[in-house]
Amino acid sequence: MDFTWTPEQDAYRMDVRRWLEANRPQALARGEDPEAGGDDAVWQRLKAWHKKLYHAGWAGLTWPKEYGGRGATPIQRVIWQQEEGPYSALGGTFIIGHGMCGPTMMAFAGEEQKRKYLPPLASGEKVWCQLFSEPAGGSDVAGLRTRAEKKGDDWIVNGQKIWTSGAHYSDYGLLITRTDPNVPKHKGLTMFFLDMKSPGVEVRPIKQANGMQEFNEVYFTDVVIPDHQRLGAVGDGWNVSLTTLMNERMSIGARLATGFPEVFDFCSNLMMDDGLAIDDRATRSKLASWAVKASGLKYTSYRAISALSKGERPGPENSIGKLVAGSMLQDIAMYAMDLEGAAGVFTGEAEEVARGQFQQMLLSSPSMRIAGGTDEILRNIIAERVLGLPGDIRVDKDVPFNKIPTKGR
Ligand SMILES: Cc1cc2nc3c(=O)[nH]c(=O)nc-3n(C[C@H](O)[C@H](O)[C@H](O)COP(=O)(O)OP(=O)(O)OC[C@H]3O[C@@H](n4cnc5c(N)ncnc54)[C@H](O)[C@@H]3O)c2cc1C
Repeated sequence: MDFTWTPEQDAYRMDVRRWLEANRPQALARGEDPEAGGDDAVWQRLKAWHKKLYHAGWAGLTWPKEYGGRGATPIQRVIWQQEEGPYSALGGTFIIGHGMCGPTMMAFAGEEQKRKYLPPLASGEKVWCQLFSEPAGGSDVAGLRTRAEKKGDDWIVNGQKIWTSGAHYSDYGLLITRTDPNVPKHKGLTMFFLDMKSPGVEVRPIKQANGMQEFNEVYFTDVVIPDHQRLGAVGDGWNVSLTTLMNERMSIGARLATGFPEVFDFCSNLMMDDGLAIDDRATRSKLASWAVKASGLKYTSYRAISALSKGERPGPENSIGKLVAGSMLQDIAMYAMDLEGAAGVFTGEAEEVARGQFQQMLLSSPSMRIAGGTDEILRNIIAERVLGLPGDIRVDKDVPFNKIPTKGR
């Protein structure tokens, strides 16, 4: 692994720093939470920030120029992400479109469609969502039941998706469906993209424990999708979805929050009965072990960066990052709440004074251990594809989908 940056990379980093310093959004600088979900003012701020990034040449960094991108190298994108720091939270709305739907369109859409749909996605003018998970198809996406049936030049779609982030403000969606129930589950799937305002698409927001509304249930009733909006061959949807899922793990892995800088800062300033929290031996021991983990994560991510710098794709070992960071975030939030004690209970005006960052972290952290692959699924990936251990037992893999015993299909 090479830890040195070239003079060109250093110069690029300085450009990024200078631009961010001159243009950083005031809202975040004051410590406001940019992701209040559903709030129109916040949403407009996010779009405005993205537009600014795009016009300054910092959005769609690694996409080809003809599709609205900047043709930057993967390493330049890494530098941008390292420097972007807390402002990356402002890009959450666009991460699915840019990190997953865009690359899938690039790999499977026709040339005319790429030129039509990708530039407005890069500029943030249009937002995309990922319609994969269903009540019976989450970790096992291939178990999905939303049906698409061919009728002339169109497909008629019926079914339900769930946990669709941003569907309530999305213009387009990437949709995986079952087109043939007579073959094993991975073989009967087909991928489409669709206009989220199509007749028959109903989006129902899900209210979360943290007060936000980031994801939704999406129902399809006789939704018509023209065949030219199919991505990949009929029955090849699983293969297309692998492109999306691989990009999903890379986008999530690039923006891992651990909570360590926040808890370090908090303990450095929190006055307890007998002095600063950071001077307490038990707290120091906790902080030290999290510092070791944070440092391990940093150097694991450098492995991926080294692979990128050699023109390689980061491998399945990238799954380690989310696995470690997810539980660390949860542990840190719980510890910080313990330290806050009774002062951590918000009532009325106190809520406005305190930022409530650890309360919010505690309520949000479990989602990091689920989205983009649960802890158990990531452990399976590491066991099978990194350590070479025997595979998970998959009894229904070669059985036609409509012969898999289940209730209510
Ligand atoms: C914040 C957030 C945003 C999301 N956004 C989207 C989105 O935009 N689009 C989208 O399509 N989906 C989205 N999802 C859904 C997400 O992909 C699924 O929740 C995830 O894949 C898990 O599926 P599930 O919830 O159905 O759980 P299940 O798959 O039902 O899993 C339940 C439990 O069983 C365990 N389990 C399952 N299979 C195995 C196995 N083989 N071995 C061991 N244990 C196993 C799991 O680890 C878990 O603990 C989002 C989820 C979250 C939390």
